[in-house]
Amino acid sequence: MPFLYKVRGEKFCFDPERNGPKGKTPFAISRSKIDLFHECPRCFYLDQRHGIKRPDGYPFSLNVAVDELLKKEFDLLRKEGKPHALMREYGIDALPFKHKDLDLWRDSLRNGIKYHDPVTNLVIRGGVDDVWIGKDGALHIVDYKATSKNGEVSLDAEWQDGYKRQVEVYQWLFRKNDFKVSDIAYFVYANGDTSPARFDARLEFVIKIIPYTGDDAWIPKTITALHACLMAETAPDSSPDCTYCAYRSAAGKQLQKDAPRRRKDKTAPNLHLAFEKTYAKNV
Ligand code: SF4
Repeated sequence: MPFLYKVRGEKFCFDPERNGPKGKTPFAISRSKIDLFHECPRCFYLDQRHGIKRPDGYPFSLNVAVDELLKKEFDLLRKEGKPHALMREYGIDALPFKHKDLDLWRDSLRNGIKYHDPVTNLVIRGGVDDVWIGKDGALHIVDYKATSKNGEVSLDAEWQDGYKRQVEVYQWLFRKNDFKVSDIAYFVYANGDTSPARFDARLEFVIKIIPYTGDDAWIPKTITALHACLMAETAPDSSPDCTYCAYRSAAGKQLQKDAPRRRKDKTAPNLHLAFEKTYAKNV
């Protein structure tokens, strides 16, 4: 968890005048923000309109390393115009796709594959892991995943619906960029094997390819709803299933009530500052 929490500056937040349909500046919405909207429109509004982001989680460094290595492996074959042995093993008649913009499409932080929606003035974007091309010329969206679990990896858990939405957004974006796109996307899933008796600084993976038939029909409706949310003057209601909002509101009310007393009370200990000093000393 980062030690300091920062609210994003105003210029990075959606402004209906500046970024609305009549505004001069299109506003970029990443694939992960579409997912945030899907999870909770209120959290999305706080993030995109006011720069109040959910606190970051821990970085998944091992997953990032697996992604990087898989990219390198598929890139070597892309250069040679050959399929990966796994593609043959799974009967996938395709090749890693060569395109001058592949690096841009993969840059999820600054670029990704983009589409400017002229109605909302939103630029929808998302960074893909890989793209393969089938014999029929249709593109397959490919996403690399890494985990470590006993037994077979699958896409059956409810929390993995986000993975499915992720590839559906990429399928939609490639279609909007006039590519022929197959409904079948592939997850290249690396599962860390914890069965060996010793570590010896080596982690072996079992890699499986899981096909998934995507359906991007939900995306235009979601963009319309998400845009209406951005244009609204106030935040949507909290989700009744989320206990954090009730907690935040109860905590906020109490702290506001305490604030005048606390300003007067010079003896009140600043526990946070004390912790910061201790922390700084010990790192
Ligand atoms: S309901 Fe939960 S997820 Fe939504 S804004 Fe509140 S804390 Fe965030």
